[in-house]
Amino acid sequence: MTAQILDGLKIRDEIFGELKGEIAKLSGQGVRPGLAAVLVGENPASQLYVKSKIAACEALGMASWLHAPAATVSTEYLLQLIKDLNEDDNVDGILVQLPLPGQIDSKRVLEAVDPAKDVDGFHPVSLGRLVSNRPGLVACTPAGCMEMLRRYKIPIEGANAVVVGRSDIVGKPMALLLMHANATVTICHSKTRDLADVVRRADIVVAAMGRAGYVQADWIRPGAAVIDVGTNKVTDAAEAEKLLKNFPARLAKFREKGNVLIGDVHPDAVFTAGAVSPVPGGVGPMTITMLMSNTVKAAKLRRGKTAVAGQ
Ligand code: NAP
Repeated sequence: MTAQILDGLKIRDEIFGELKGEIAKLSGQGVRPGLAAVLVGENPASQLYVKSKIAACEALGMASWLHAPAATVSTEYLLQLIKDLNEDDNVDGILVQLPLPGQIDSKRVLEAVDPAKDVDGFHPVSLGRLVSNRPGLVACTPAGCMEMLRRYKIPIEGANAVVVGRSDIVGKPMALLLMHANATVTICHSKTRDLADVVRRADIVVAAMGRAGYVQADWIRPGAAVIDVGTNKVTDAAEAEKLLKNFPARLAKFREKGNVLIGDVHPDAVFTAGAVSPVPGGVGPMTITMLMSNTVKAAKLRRGKTAVAGQ
């Protein structure tokens, strides 16, 4: 038996449908939610991410603005740009695409974003609200993982959840969200002893470590739900052959293209788990979806309205 696939594209479409309704309602009240994206320099991966975020705004009928200063800009320049966006009442969400070039003080720039427009959920005020379980804007990737678990009706209350990774943008907020949903949460990191044994106790595994296929299939308790956040581009042929030996169609694609996207969980986990989010097509689409949902939420909170799809 293979695991149920937690289809991020399907949930994205579902949530987009709900958001469209809310955006139409807001537009009837003269409000058009809008996202301002700040993309510094010409990093191709960042350009691609921002392009998809702007495309999602357009697909939903939201306003969007792209600010794309050169890679050589100063911290002061960006701080002024953020100040202008904070003061612009048409802008509901501000997205600063990371990473920023080395000369820029990224923390200062992120902390300059008005918490009411912090649709990435990276501001310390947003994190503080999350810690104390108060309403606010939650980081998109972990919020998307929760949405997946909820929409696929994976039981969370009382479950043993293991989060592998403790970054500020994924692991930590993920663990907090699971805890607030009454899971019993264990957070693992690079110094965790006997990782395999810890993962084996999990009803829910969230892998966010950035290591292709690291979490082995036999670490997954039969029937457990696996949320694979990792997005690792594998280009080494021997590694791809090893990871994909049971997936001939994907292997054939790798041979054609020379690279393949692999999660942090070994693809064979689909034979042990009860449910698995695929890579690609799992958490990835959920992240952009939650950014859209956060932008609509920010628009509503700033204007004193409530209830948003996907929250
Ligand atoms: P990160 O900041 O590099 O953090 C990685 C975490 O994994 C760290 O806490 C690290 O532990 C832990 N780790 C690394 N090796 C480990 C090991 N052998 N055993 C146990 N823990 C280990 O990464 P991130 O930003 O959280 O991202 C994680 C992955 O998710 C990456 O593949 C990234 O591309 C992907 N991602 C995907 C999306 C999406 O939309 N799909 C969004 C964000 C991130 P230490 O703290 O001890 O160093």
